[in-house]
Amino acid sequence: MSGITLDQLRERTRGMVIDPEDPAYDVARKVYNGMIDRRPAVVVRPVNVGDVMAAVDLARENGVDLAIRGGGHSVPGFGTCDGGVVIDLSGMRGVHVDPVAGLARAEGGATWGDFNAATYPFGLATTGGIISTTGVAGLTLGGGIGYLDRAYGLSCDNLVSADVVTADGGFVTATEADNSDLLWALRGGGGNFGVVTSLQFRLHPVKDIYGGPMFYDLEDAESVLRFYREFIDDAPEQLGAFPAFQIAPPLPFIPEDRHGDTMFLVVACWAGPLDEGERVLKPFHDVAPVVAEFVGPMPYPALNSAFDALLPPGLQHYWKANFVTELTDEAIRAHLQHGPNVPVVNSTTHIYPINGACHRVAPDATAFAYRDANFAAVIAGMWPDPADNDANIRWVRDYYDAVAPQSERGGYVNFMADDDQDRVRDNYRGNYERLAQIKRKYDPGNLFHLNQNIVG
Ligand SMILES: Cc1cc2nc3c(=O)[nH]c(=O)nc-3n(C[C@H](O)[C@H](O)[C@H](O)COP(=O)(O)OP(=O)(O)OC[C@H]3O[C@@H](n4cnc5c(N)ncnc54)[C@H](O)[C@@H]3O)c2cc1C
Repeated sequence: MSGITLDQLRERTRGMVIDPEDPAYDVARKVYNGMIDRRPAVVVRPVNVGDVMAAVDLARENGVDLAIRGGGHSVPGFGTCDGGVVIDLSGMRGVHVDPVAGLARAEGGATWGDFNAATYPFGLATTGGIISTTGVAGLTLGGGIGYLDRAYGLSCDNLVSADVVTADGGFVTATEADNSDLLWALRGGGGNFGVVTSLQFRLHPVKDIYGGPMFYDLEDAESVLRFYREFIDDAPEQLGAFPAFQIAPPLPFIPEDRHGDTMFLVVACWAGPLDEGERVLKPFHDVAPVVAEFVGPMPYPALNSAFDALLPPGLQHYWKANFVTELTDEAIRAHLQHGPNVPVVNSTTHIYPINGACHRVAPDATAFAYRDANFAAVIAGMWPDPADNDANIRWVRDYYDAVAPQSERGGYVNFMADDDQDRVRDNYRGNYERLAQIKRKYDPGNLFHLNQNIVG
């Protein structure tokens, strides 16, 4: 390195500076996707904004790659790099709730588990992901799809301000009043614009929800899917519910003789009055026999972490995704052909609804452009053994090839694989040019390029 040296960085940094000689290095260089095996020159674990500034300066002045890691869940492994600097924000996970204002501020390394744990005691929540270990920042910056999006919009729609360390090592706060162009871009434009050291969200009255997974026989998948596409179109917005193909895990509520069977399921989250939950979910019981279920009242954070054990860090990941406007009969046929071939218990296909409140935001009001899409579908290949890479990647690609003609050209940036960089313009549709302009303003040298990259 020819700019700031590692020794100078250490003098400026309160957090950890982990180089390849450090015993912590081999763990620190890894991300959630076990397929990613990269060796950065240094991993910096900031504990404050000044540490982040120092690490940004180190990367820029030395002209090396800079990777930003929040929760580490990026499937293409954008949270690490070869030979460059990693800013790992896992030392900055604080969440501060202001129940009077109905706001919460999360530091850039907080996970949804951290966030929900902090807001739950106040009976408040905002839209977040379905797994508790995903990062608040990475998920929100790409848009943010979850159980509460039909009621309260995407996570990025609830983002009211963000603190950002920019490429020049400076610091700005983006709100509707100040640097509003930057706030617009952060609402869906990904990690292109700087290191977001904290994010402030609008909260909503959500505490205990009524919901959980309902498993069906595969032979009922078609009727449930057909029912679902009509039902979710105008279902009460406090209902989040997505269909999925899944091998039945060995869970106590699933009959033992069904463990390992490939099944169809719907996971539901009713965030309205608890005593209405049973009635709201009754149509899912009427449409076909539910073979096994774990449905009832539970804390919202419990549903948010219900699938964590299925998805430990270190699995191999390969995903493909599209937005879907109409779940056509042809699309359903493609799902029925490929969904049942799901190869392992960790892999799945989810079809997330993004209608309701998501549709009430104009396509150009935030960077997230697909406001007329009804679903974000993802084929999520996740498996433990690298020896199975070929078979699993083939399943994802074959499935994707079958559903893509029935889908929009663009997909959700946070579900993209590393071979999807040529889809970035499609993913942002008419918002791309404005994003490129804002990129030129805040990061003209494209220091933040390890992401679904917007080229200024
Ligand atoms: C198991 C699993 C479940 C998921 N579930 C959902 C879901 O329910 N809903 C949904 O919408 N998405 C979901 N995702 C996708 C998820 O939104 C993306 O993988 C997202 O990028 C993860 O963010 P992260 O902070 O955990 O990841 P990281 O790998 O840490 O970050 C990914 C990228 O985000 C950017 N980034 C992260 N933090 C910052 C920051 N503080 N400042 C600037 N840039 C930053 C950087 O570009 C970084 O490379 C899921 C992913 C996985 C693996």
